[in-house]
Amino acid sequence: MKWSWKFVRIAGIDIYIHVTFFLLIYLVGISYWNQEGNLNAVISGVGFILALFACVVLHEFGHSLTARRYGIQTKSITLLPIGGMAALEKMPDDPRQEINVALAGPAVNFVIALLLYLYLNVQHIEISPEGLSVTDGSFLYRLMLVNIFIGVFNLLPAFPMDGGRVLRAALALRMDHASATRVAASVGQFLAVGMGFLGLMYNPFLVFIAVFIWFGASMENNAEQLKSVLGQADVRHAMLREFHSLSPEDTLAKAVELTLAGSQKDFPVGYHNQLEKVLHHGDLIQGLQLQGEHARIRDLPLQTILTADINEPLEKLLERMQGNPAQMICVVDQGEVVGLLNLENLLELIRIQSAVDAHNLAKKI
Ligand SMILES: [Zn+2]
Repeated sequence: MKWSWKFVRIAGIDIYIHVTFFLLIYLVGISYWNQEGNLNAVISGVGFILALFACVVLHEFGHSLTARRYGIQTKSITLLPIGGMAALEKMPDDPRQEINVALAGPAVNFVIALLLYLYLNVQHIEISPEGLSVTDGSFLYRLMLVNIFIGVFNLLPAFPMDGGRVLRAALALRMDHASATRVAASVGQFLAVGMGFLGLMYNPFLVFIAVFIWFGASMENNAEQLKSVLGQADVRHAMLREFHSLSPEDTLAKAVELTLAGSQKDFPVGYHNQLEKVLHHGDLIQGLQLQGEHARIRDLPLQTILTADINEPLEKLLERMQGNPAQMICVVDQGEVVGLLNLENLLELIRIQSAVDAHNLAKKI
């Protein structure tokens, strides 16, 4: 995530802190200073927030380490003022595994709360149900209450929060994944609207979380619907069968000629069937400016080309292309290059597939 600073690496997972998190610490410090007017209050106020976010990190580790048991790695954990975010490679496809991963986060908070409760009991510190307040009482007592709150709050069935993920997975046991996500996302957005209204009346912080849920639900739902369209197709369905390639010995003039003659903008480069590099349109234009049209293709900065088997599912390929959407893919059938594929071809296939789906749906109605 942009504007994040790498803080520490634990159990092979990088922990980042978003710059707005420091703003939160600053605001908390200032508000304690204005209320109490002494440094001790500021230190204990800020210290409490730091302890709270340490618990949030442990919550995210609950998700990450459970996912690791199912062979899914976590790229990073980022701390934001509204909480933590673990960037898992993906969620498990098996709904039962997804339920375990989603529940592991809140479970960590309940365990922390239980341990604090036991400790406070041993120390004979009074825990009264009447005095339930996050602003009163000892440091550890408040930390216990806040952990219970985090655990319960995250279990609200507001997809993509943890409880919403449990709901989606539970639905996915009975229906297909895309429909389950659509239902869970609608429930999540409905709850987000309610939360937004409550937030406007009582606590602006809730409005932030509501916005986060609303957009999170819509983004994940779109990605899931896309996956379901692509899920039925292989690379062969989306690839471009007619294409031109260049030899490293060709001149830039040849590349210009081919660009003007057709719709192809990027060209694979190599000898015969050994297409190992790709010349991107931007690099061609820059090469023309710097070296002129008589320069050779091999003198330009060429990118390594990705290859895909003609039978590879598009969903798998899309996962590989993530983070590098401009990538051109060389499609190979038994060692022979038979086609090209880029994000544009994929989008074209999605447009066509959606139109066909809409037509079929209209016929059913
Ligand atoms: Zn969580």
